[in-house]
Amino acid sequence: MKILDGKALSEQLIDSVKEKASRLKPKLAVIMVGDDPASLAYVRNKKRACETAGIDYEELKFPITVTQDEILKSIEKLNNDSSVNGFIVQMPLPSHIYVPEVIRAIDPKKDVDGFQAYNIGKMFLSPEFEDLPPATPLGIVKLLDHYSIPIQGQEVVVVGHSNIVGKPISVMMLNRNATVTTCHIHTKNLAEHTKRADILIVAVGKPNLITADMVKKGVVVVDVGINKKADGKLCGDVDFEGVSKKASYITPVPGGIGPMTVAALILNTIRATERQLSNN
Ligand code: NAD
Repeated sequence: MKILDGKALSEQLIDSVKEKASRLKPKLAVIMVGDDPASLAYVRNKKRACETAGIDYEELKFPITVTQDEILKSIEKLNNDSSVNGFIVQMPLPSHIYVPEVIRAIDPKKDVDGFQAYNIGKMFLSPEFEDLPPATPLGIVKLLDHYSIPIQGQEVVVVGHSNIVGKPISVMMLNRNATVTTCHIHTKNLAEHTKRADILIVAVGKPNLITADMVKKGVVVVDVGINKKADGKLCGDVDFEGVSKKASYITPVPGGIGPMTVAALILNTIRATERQLSNN
């Protein structure tokens, strides 16, 4: 069994954009609402990655009581600020904020999280049109490619069908000619599907959802889930202990897809800047 080391690859990828960053002078802005500890930790990692890459970084902080209107105004300002090349709205947002309207307001050219309908729509066409794909799926594809794990013709089973991970990674796998099954909360017999997987991608948010008896020998496992255990440590959705004994490759949590998502955000920021500068 080999570990898919997202932390190491993420560092390499962030290092690899330094030269471009010093030339293009990109800037990333983050809208952060409230003080959820997990969100603050993610934002800290993004800020650190920008500092390492040489990307200018700005944080716009709002209290949990922020109104829909205030967020929309701040997005409009970032859309019109030519010094900002990309920005994200850190999720989750408080329940009084209507997220689809927030995402719709983001200029697709600056949508470096890749959540906007225009970027999602382009992604459906083919890999060549994945201009700003959602950051976590992009991180997954980069990690599989780095380890030369073949995708074409493989049985890929995705567990989770969120707009930010499950659905877009299913499309990106289909774009690469995998045979894709997407499972979710209403899937009747989850194990029946997961047992078929050559590549199993799990993005649910439930510790130990996938156990050793649910996978076949040699499976490649990508665990996207981030869960906090009673002792405060992080774990994924996969029973690492049991499943790693059968897997050929597996991502750890932490140190797998989390850092790859940050690296993908950096790659998207560089890409957005290049496209803006070339008016493409
Ligand atoms: P979500 O929370 O929006 O949705 C959960 C998905 O899991 C849904 O599609 C639901 O149908 C499915 N599901 C729930 N229970 C299930 C079950 N018993 N069997 C099968 N499917 C089930 O999903 P999300 O936003 O993609 O987040 C999923 C997990 O991934 C969370 O733990 C989140 O923290 C993590 N995450 C990690 C990263 C990263 O950078 N590593 C990025 C995004 C999300």
